[in-house]
Amino acid sequence: MLIRYIDQLKDLAGKKIFIRVDFNVPQDEKGNITEATRIVGAVPTIRYAVEQGAKVVLASHLGRPKGEKKPKYSMAPASKKLAQLLGKKVVQAPDCFGPEVDRLIEAMKPGDVVMLENVRFYPGEEKNDPDFARQLANGCEIYVNDAFAVSHRAHASVEAITKVIPVVAAGFLMKNEMTFFDKAMQNPVRPLVAILGGAKVSGKLEVLEKLVNKVDKIVIGGGMAFTFLKAQGYAVGKSLVEDELLGTAKKIMEQAKKRGVTFYLPVDCVVANAFEATATNFITTVQEIPAGWMALDIGPASATLFTETLRDAKTVIWNGPMGVFEMDAFARGTFQVAEAVGNCYATTIIGGGDTDAAVNKAGVATKVSYISTGGGAFLELLEGKVLPGVKALDIKVK
Ligand code: AMP
Repeated sequence: MLIRYIDQLKDLAGKKIFIRVDFNVPQDEKGNITEATRIVGAVPTIRYAVEQGAKVVLASHLGRPKGEKKPKYSMAPASKKLAQLLGKKVVQAPDCFGPEVDRLIEAMKPGDVVMLENVRFYPGEEKNDPDFARQLANGCEIYVNDAFAVSHRAHASVEAITKVIPVVAAGFLMKNEMTFFDKAMQNPVRPLVAILGGAKVSGKLEVLEKLVNKVDKIVIGGGMAFTFLKAQGYAVGKSLVEDELLGTAKKIMEQAKKRGVTFYLPVDCVVANAFEATATNFITTVQEIPAGWMALDIGPASATLFTETLRDAKTVIWNGPMGVFEMDAFARGTFQVAEAVGNCYATTIIGGGDTDAAVNKAGVATKVSYISTGGGAFLELLEGKVLPGVKALDIKVK
């Protein structure tokens, strides 16, 4: 694959450039943006295009309007936030295409920025409809994808549009994502350690099967650890277990052993008598989880053990919390691992919304090498898949 980046394009001045961004940001009931990381992440690409004198047309999705124009999912608050960050006017278009949008784009001067309305207001977006892609292109001459978090979706503004606009490239956010991923997975400095957590094994099965053939150590925490512990013969009470995957869990551990990959599971945990923030809880070893109790976090000995495994790591990939970190009583394990990742002398890459939130809450966001903006897209890269949005930028096949 050969990907061109926006700074490799010549003569942007005066050209209409379509930049697919991912401004799918959380908002409160009043429409205030509560977390703007994704908008901040796209600013370097937008600013570059503006400084080059391009006419910048932006497009994004927001939420799940399911093909209907629902004002609640308008891009207007995101445009406003972007204008603040850029320090310049961003014109919010009333639609994705049509006479009014044509007029706005016609009137653009070099360096102007127009934000189209939510691309998911039309069913053609998620159907990857070529006709919708043609309408969306609005006569733009250059297409840039800077929306990593949606690049695992073959949607019209990510995939079909690259067949309509002749010149395609990736933005700087995309470049960062791909560069760090390559550094971690294609050419890792070893030891390479993967830390996986989160609710279920089933959600990360393909990732596990891939990683076990790639990494030097695997650390498993979160709900998924208990399927592995049960597969080893432990009684895990009412902890989250996927019984149908016990055989698969065993196979993954056998494969790890065969390849000389060291495999770490929690040695202790915080158990509770209910899945509630105020439930009675205590710390116990994994050998002594009482019947009727459920493990909702790793324990302090596991946090120390996991920290120890990172001591000689040179590359660390982390996806998924170590416990139900949304509840304070079960957040300690995740924060301790976040701190350990933040403090280790390695290239550290964090993927997935939950893990990102944990690293921020633990106050170590500035100490990790890279926080991916993609959850699903990051996992698909780990699974070894080629993302449709990235494949569409391959200029070798253009
Ligand atoms: P995932 O989307 O698979 O990364 O899962 C994230 C979710 O896993 C979070 O909402 C956590 O609350 C949940 N989780 C982590 N550990 C446990 C656990 N021991 N039991 C139940 N849920 C868990």
